[in-house]
Amino acid sequence: MASPTLAQVRTLIDDLWPESFAESWDSVGLTVGDPAAPVTAILLAVDPTDDVVAEAAETSADLLLTHHPLLLRGVTSVAADTLKGGQVTRLLQAGVAHIAAHTNADSQLGGVSDALIDVLDAQVEGPLAPTAGAPDGVGIGRVGTVRPTTVRALAQALADALPVTATGVRIAGDPDAPVERVAVCGGAGDGLFDEVRASGAQVYVTSDLRHHPATEARDTAHRGDGTPHLIDISHWAAESLWLDRAASQLRASAAHSGWDVTVTVSTRRTDAWTLRIGQEDTDG
Ligand SMILES: [Zn+2]
Repeated sequence: MASPTLAQVRTLIDDLWPESFAESWDSVGLTVGDPAAPVTAILLAVDPTDDVVAEAAETSADLLLTHHPLLLRGVTSVAADTLKGGQVTRLLQAGVAHIAAHTNADSQLGGVSDALIDVLDAQVEGPLAPTAGAPDGVGIGRVGTVRPTTVRALAQALADALPVTATGVRIAGDPDAPVERVAVCGGAGDGLFDEVRASGAQVYVTSDLRHHPATEARDTAHRGDGTPHLIDISHWAAESLWLDRAASQLRASAAHSGWDVTVTVSTRRTDAWTLRIGQEDTDG
């Protein structure tokens, strides 16, 4: 079997998670690398941190595929003594290319949001915010139905499925409230409260909920029937659920193409939070 070129792998990745599904503000696709170079080993991770870049170099990966972009905002220098420039320089020195599959992977069927809602054993109805111009079912977040349960039981299912993190799984609202309809959004989902309310979901699972959006969402809920209750989970943990699934899809597509390429998931934790100092539990 032959090794593919980076250009061929890039095309395969675009078939799996089309760049056209990405949000307009996003930066996805090839960031670093020579399209003509051969690819024999691919490493998957959530974040292109220094640690993950080092792992790619140490494991002799030719391509680092991350969920989060390496370069999202404009840069005018990739000097090695800048944060992003240091990462680009290290990748180039080690001969590692970089591709990001961000909101295109969030929105794709079977992508990041589906990996998350599958933890809740939900019957998926569709996206919270459909992607304009994309096929039915493609979009940001997911809405679905679950067998009658409670906010607490869903939070526990998430706690059981996700890697352990310092921030854990947090509830805003009534843990014992009944739930039959759920909404999820992998990553920072505090921009989708209107869509969540319109969906009729009784619980909303997302990450990085800040004080003001969360308290305002709960006040808004209290003026109605008290929903949606909120479950906040680690951003990294939520999106790490996608990596094994994405690796399997890449392996299958590579095998189908007759390519000799290994696909590995990063062993590095890139959650920003590393320690929680214990306090008495406050339940309710
Ligand atoms: Zn994210």
